[in-house]
Amino acid sequence: MARIVVAVDGPAGSGKSSVSKAAARRLGYNYLDTGAAYRGLAWWVLERGIAPSDSSAVIERLPDWDYRIGIEPDEYYVAVGDTDITEAIREPRVSAVVSTVARVPEIRAHVNELFRSIMKAAPKEGIIVEGRDITTVVAPDAQARILLTASEEVRMARRSAEMTTEKSSDVADQLRKRDAADSRVVDFMTAADGVVTVDSTDLNFDRTVDAVLDVIAQKIARTAHA
Ligand code: C5P
Repeated sequence: MARIVVAVDGPAGSGKSSVSKAAARRLGYNYLDTGAAYRGLAWWVLERGIAPSDSSAVIERLPDWDYRIGIEPDEYYVAVGDTDITEAIREPRVSAVVSTVARVPEIRAHVNELFRSIMKAAPKEGIIVEGRDITTVVAPDAQARILLTASEEVRMARRSAEMTTEKSSDVADQLRKRDAADSRVVDFMTAADGVVTVDSTDLNFDRTVDAVLDVIAQKIARTAHA
């Protein structure tokens, strides 16, 4: 069981997935991408022909949703049953409906239980868990809690660079829409008490990873001496 939990929240395009994964690799920790579960559920809902807005139908079928995720930073995969959906969950059709699925409290409660059992079963000394409500809801007792931010302009530019097949103005529009919908459910733009903000607007990738590792080192040293 992971003894050390590091919680990282932030908006889309803040770099939290790649930064968290790199930090986990450097520390020899496990890494849990929680957005992938909401995406995996949205993918499955579409696949089964359920309307994403029909929350009762989604809740009713939840026990059949056989979700798995790799938590080794170098062996990341996402699967439902025997189907590998690592790539499929990034498709625009999934991104377009994920917030609709994620806003339902019963669905969030189910998914949060899943996260807690994955964290408990993690074999490494520590686990970095990233998402939107990790510092506040999923792991408010984490030894290190970080909000990773970046200016909207920089976030849109980073996401457009990743999505090479789409027009950058479309990517920016979709991202803004998703952030607006998500922020009605969880506040991931302001740091809760005890959460350290790392602003990556003017930092390159390696400097951002270093800044996150610095916060973790400080917090863990403090916990160890407490
Ligand atoms: O992080 P990512 O962009 O992959 O997250 C996909 C979606 O999952 C978000 O837009 C949000 O709707 C949902 N999400 C959430 N809570 C989390 C992580 C993700 O509601 N902890």
